[in-house]
Parts: sequence; C-alpha cells; structure tokens
Amino acid sequence: MIQLHDKYFTPYIKADSIDSTIKKMAAEIKADCGDEVPVFIGVLNGAFRFVADLMKHYNGDCEVQFIKMQSYEGTASKGTVLQQIGLNQDLSQRKVVILEDIIDTGNTLTEIYKLLENQGVDDFKIASLFFKPTAYTKEHSIHYIGFEIPDRFIVGYGLDYDGLGRNLSDIYQLKTTYMTNLVLFGPPGAGKGTQADVLKEKYNLVHISTGDVFRYNIKNKTDLGTLAKSYIDKGHLVPDEVTIKMLNAEVEKNPDANGFIFDGFPRTEAQAESLDRLLTEKGSQVNAMIALEVDDEILVSRLMERGKTSGRPDDANESVIRDRIAVYYKQTAVLKNYYQKQEKFIGVDGVGSIEEISIRLSEAIDSL
Ligand code: 5GP
Repeated sequence: MIQLHDKYFTPYIKADSIDSTIKKMAAEIKADCGDEVPVFIGVLNGAFRFVADLMKHYNGDCEVQFIKMQSYEGTASKGTVLQQIGLNQDLSQRKVVILEDIIDTGNTLTEIYKLLENQGVDDFKIASLFFKPTAYTKEHSIHYIGFEIPDRFIVGYGLDYDGLGRNLSDIYQLKTTYMTNLVLFGPPGAGKGTQADVLKEKYNLVHISTGDVFRYNIKNKTDLGTLAKSYIDKGHLVPDEVTIKMLNAEVEKNPDANGFIFDGFPRTEAQAESLDRLLTEKGSQVNAMIALEVDDEILVSRLMERGKTSGRPDDANESVIRDRIAVYYKQTAVLKNYYQKQEKFIGVDGVGSIEEISIRLSEAIDSL
C-alpha cells in the first residue's frame, strides 16, 4: 500500500506485466506498419513512459512527436475547451499512431480525432495502454489496447494523482473501502463476547480476540507461536513486537474485511501506539475505543449467578470477582485516557437485554 497526498493505493499491475504487454503492442503495430516509418504521437503528460517503452520495443524505424491536450474553463457560455500544444509537422501523407496512456470517458479522444481530421491526417490509429470500457461513452475506434480495466482510478507508470505517482513502475489502484476498526473493552461479565459476535455479523467485521490468536499460533506451531511460547514457558511476558506481528498476520489474512474488532489488545499505551502504526501502514486507523459500562454490583451479581452453573472457579468467589473488576479498571484507565485524548473513546451503557445493548453499540458505530 502506498500513500499519495491524502489517498491510499494498493498494488494492481506489476511492471513486468506492463512491459510484456507493451512488447506485444509494439509487435502488432510493427506488423501493421510493415516497412513504412510511423510517426508516434504521444499524448502528454501521462503517456511519456508508455511512449519510451513502446519505442524501445519497436523493431524498426520510427519517429516521435508529442502533443498536450489542455483543458481549461472558458467563459460560462463556452464551457470547457480543449486546446492543443505541439504538432507542427505535416502528417497528411504519414502513418500516424497516437499513443495514449489511458482512455476513460473518451472525451480527450474526441478532441484528438477532431485535431487530426482538421490537420488532414487520414491514416491514423489509436493505441492506449489502458482502457476503461465501462466508462467509455464514445464510438471512436481504438486500435491497440494494452489492458482493459474496470472503472477504477489508477496511478503509476506515468499516470498521476494530483501530480504524484508518475515515477512508480507498477500500477496501483485507489483504495476505496475504508475500514471501521474498533477496540472493544468491557469488564468481566459485561457481555463483550456476545456483543462482539453481534457486531461482527452486522458490520462484516473480523473479531480478533488476542487470546484466541495466541492459542491458535501456539497450537499450530507457527513461527510466531513458537516464539511466543518460548517466552511463556520461561514465565516471561510475550514482547509487544511478537504480539503485534501476530495481529498483523490476522489483519492480512482478511483483506476484504470492512474492519476489525480488537479484543484483549491493546493493554498498554505502547501497544496502543503500535496498533496505530500497524493500521496507519494499511491506510487505516482505530476509529473508536468502545467500552461497555456496567455497575460493579451488577457485574458481581451476574458473575456469581454465572458461577452457580458455569463451574468456573473464578466466577464463584466474590472477592476474586471484585479483584478481576479492579484489575480491569486499573489496566484500562490509561487506554481510556489515550483514546479520550484523540476523541475516540465511547462509553456504552452495558445494562439491559442483549438486543438493547446491541442497539446502543450500533448507534455508536453508525455515528463514527
Ligand atoms: P478521458 O475521460 O477523456 O478518456 O480521459 C481523460 C484523462 O483523464 C486521461 O487522459 C487521464 O489523464 C485522466 N484519467 C482517466 N482515468 C484515469 C485514471 O484511472 N488514473 C489517472 N491517473 N488518470 C486518469
């Protein structure tokens, strides 16, 4: 993923694939021109690299010229006008091949057709490295096409976004889906797991429970799992760096997710910072820290009630329960503060039925 100005772009077409496509186009053009010497006309600015590489692969004599189509706002009555810069050679008797980087709506191409016809050029063909058939609204023939692509905005290999990106050798496409990433907190007994399940369904989010991720990696003896286990076996804390790598692997496993629910991470400010870095690298961010808020006495009675049937020893003893709640508040205070400073902290009332709490959470997420 790369960033140009305010936007993010993901890899789309590799340089070697561009090169082999241009090679084929050059061979096709050569076959059609035979022994005649064509005049290539590159359309600036975007086509400069395409022109250079097409000529590199053109196996025969050829000439080159450039034109620049410039659009500018005319008076209100005239609207937008296209003007040409360049083209000062008599091309009436020549074989001309227009080299375009990309044809989108075809408006530019219409102007090029007009321009060539006005200048008495009757033997001309159009070659475009990229073509967006679904965006094209014209009827003009396009004789050589490198890649037909969907109606997406691309950059690289001469194509820019607001001036930047022309120097990239690969083609990248604009990233248009923005993720919703939540950090979910709740004291023991707040119903965090239940609500995470509801939210992941409703918003197509991936629930990353750090505990589950650890267990999965250790059980499957992944490199990171084995590394984490070596610390755990010695009674040491797993370094943040290892944990964040595991989370990164989870994020990368789900490139189509609308976002992630982070559960059990971060636990420290340093971890919160590294989570920010991880998401920033992916052109995203933590959108909110959502904390389910439930009064201590309600939590104690819920957990005591659960302890009667769950058989979990840590649910049966009131002082153990109160300790766990206290640990939760002690641990999360710093994170609440961290996200509050960024205006990302949202407290949600966690008392009520599952549905009532889900509705409150959805309202909080929809307001992001
Ligand atoms: P038209 O819509 O006239 O066919 O295309 C006009 C111009 O818009 C192209 O020559 C090119 O400069 C720009 N353009 C169209 N689609 C894209 C795209 O996906 N990426 C970039 N960087 N420019 C584009």
